[in-house]
Amino acid sequence: MPSAGVSGDHCRALAWTVDHDLRCAGVGGPFVNGSTDSDPDATLFEWFDTRDPNHGAIGMARSALAGQSCSGVIEWNGCAWDVSYRPVLGPDGTIAGALALAVPADPPGAPDETRYRRLYENAPLAAFAIGAHGRVIEASGRAGRMVGAEPVGREFVRLFADESAGRPRVEDALQRLRDGESVENCEALVRAADGTTYWVSLSGVPVFDADGHVSELRLVALAIDDRKRTERELRESEERARTLLDGLPDAVCVHVDGVVRYANPRAADLFGAPSSAALEGLAVVELICPEYVPIVRERMRRLLAGAPRQGLLRLRLKRTDGDVFEGETADIRVSYGKETAIAVVVRDLSDRQELEEQLRRSQRLGAVGELAGGLAHDFNNLLTVIHGYASLLAERPSSAFVAEITKAAQRAAELTRRLLALGRREEHTPEVFAPAEVLERAEPVLRSVVEDDIELLVDIHDEQARVLLDRGEFEQVVLNLVSNARDAMPRGGRLTVSTGVREHDGVRRFVLAVADTGQGMDEATRARVLEPFFTTKPDGTGLGLATVQAIVTRAGGDITVQSEPRRGTIIAAFFPLAGEDAEVADPVAEPSLDELRGTGTILLVDDEPMVRDLVTEILRGAGYAVLAAHSAKEALELAAAREGPFRAAIIDVVLPDESGAELARQLRERRPDLAVLFMSGYGASQVRAKGVGEDAAFLKKPYRAAELLAAVRGVSRIGMADSL
Ligand code: ADP
Ligand code: MG
Repeated sequence: MPSAGVSGDHCRALAWTVDHDLRCAGVGGPFVNGSTDSDPDATLFEWFDTRDPNHGAIGMARSALAGQSCSGVIEWNGCAWDVSYRPVLGPDGTIAGALALAVPADPPGAPDETRYRRLYENAPLAAFAIGAHGRVIEASGRAGRMVGAEPVGREFVRLFADESAGRPRVEDALQRLRDGESVENCEALVRAADGTTYWVSLSGVPVFDADGHVSELRLVALAIDDRKRTERELRESEERARTLLDGLPDAVCVHVDGVVRYANPRAADLFGAPSSAALEGLAVVELICPEYVPIVRERMRRLLAGAPRQGLLRLRLKRTDGDVFEGETADIRVSYGKETAIAVVVRDLSDRQELEEQLRRSQRLGAVGELAGGLAHDFNNLLTVIHGYASLLAERPSSAFVAEITKAAQRAAELTRRLLALGRREEHTPEVFAPAEVLERAEPVLRSVVEDDIELLVDIHDEQARVLLDRGEFEQVVLNLVSNARDAMPRGGRLTVSTGVREHDGVRRFVLAVADTGQGMDEATRARVLEPFFTTKPDGTGLGLATVQAIVTRAGGDITVQSEPRRGTIIAAFFPLAGEDAEVADPVAEPSLDELRGTGTILLVDDEPMVRDLVTEILRGAGYAVLAAHSAKEALELAAAREGPFRAAIIDVVLPDESGAELARQLRERRPDLAVLFMSGYGASQVRAKGVGEDAAFLKKPYRAAELLAAVRGVSRIGMADSL
């Protein structure tokens, strides 16, 4: 720059001309005032003190001399100038030279320029001004760092890598700018001077001259390498996951709202689809046999509602050609893009089935052996009867004797039929049925399994409840649980088999509970009982509960084991409800009084005669027998005088002679499994303060008849559940 005497702070505007030899002359501003001592013939190179033919000022002059108006920002003398060049035509119409007009780029009063520039230089942006010739005429300091060399004067596209994501893409962007469009977020690969490449996002606008022609392009580049790398890594990890899923020997499907979104090739194989893509878009229920659809729906609902995981589900699946096969599924909730999806692993059980069939068969044989022992005893009795009457018949013919013989023979035939049914090799054939019916029919068999000194109680509720199971397997579950309960009571006791519908983990389930008042288990035993081959019996197989567990989980249910040494054990199996029961399940509906009927004797203790009469009335009306007492003393006397069991005791918390809690304790000394329902006009917290345990059942007065009956059901339903 010649010492033009132009200091950035006074000047307002400059103008100069340039001829074809790039010689320039000032024609205005400070030049006119003669305050310049510059050589009038100095070239632009001298003016701008540069040898760089691509220097912004020279580039622009050349463009103008070539007939192209242009403009740009040039730094000069510590000041940024908005410079515009336009060609000057001679008399003959040819370009005689170019005229440059420059005004300070920063308006007067703009923030301190150096500070402004520092900001600009340190921003993670590189700014480029590109002349019509495609060369960089100006660039911010960051631009130099970005490309690892001085970019000014270089052809812009050459800053980019020589591959499709580099130059061609940038050429395309420049072309769009030249056509007057703006460019946003064009991602391109820069090649730095040291050969490394990285990604930038380019945005730019064209600058128009007074004639409306694009005279210059301005672009900013934002380094996005980190983002690109993350994207690439994500893509690579997705590819890895996909390769993994594609190679997996198990079928995997991902579905959103019950519609398959992804399936791996093995899934296509398994379901007989021509390709994975052919499965995508199918409704999941199209791949499942209809009887399992409610169960699968329920599992989906629980998963989406937040259940962390569920056991395996064994079910029958449908191929796209309609063929049915046996499979096992495990499902988890996953995020799929922005959606919540369920990923399902499906395993084909066609091969494993044969093995399991064998195991089941041998287990069943074990059960048959078990049963045979009990039956032999029964048979013996029946044969004694038949023999006896036959010999009497020989003495004197009587139709009554014949009837007795026929009856005994029929009973023997029934036993044999049961035995055969159990021993028969059956396929695993789940069907929808009411377990209550099966249980009712199996009752005589169960009686033959338990010893005489064991009181067997079969307590059936919700007879209509239905499950999807193999009937034979259900019988096997009952039999295994009952024979364990029997083994636990060598000196006799009470064995309760109860069924009904209960809320379990927030869902209505069919429950089968077998409770005994036997020796119970310590914690260490309890923790291991479901393990195959775990047994504490000299002749045990340790397969009973393992089989129960296998059957129950395969049906989509689960098992709970409650036990206390010397107090007894309750093992409960929860099964999903099937069919309409599952669909119409309505947990808030209050059952009608008729549904709340029950049997057995209830000990009622309340000192208030009106309450006593009312409760007695309600209970008798619902089918219970009632022994009513007005004090603890009378209650203990009534209990002592009674041989048989009580269905439950209903005790007022406050009695004239003793607290209700103390009375319950004394009653349980003789009847440890007595189910107790406390009632009181006090609230729960006051009642707890009167010694009634935290977990004891409690009914607040006043109550409606249905509430009383439901509460009685509640305490007595699962036998001794509440006394444990
Ligand atoms: P097994 O009856 O052949 O021993 P199971 O799998 O049926 O095999 O039972 C495993 C073990 O669990 C038993 O040996 C016993 O220790 C314990 N067990 C099962 N049921 C009961 C029960 N009702 N009361 C006490 N212990 C039980
Ligand atoms: Mg057993």
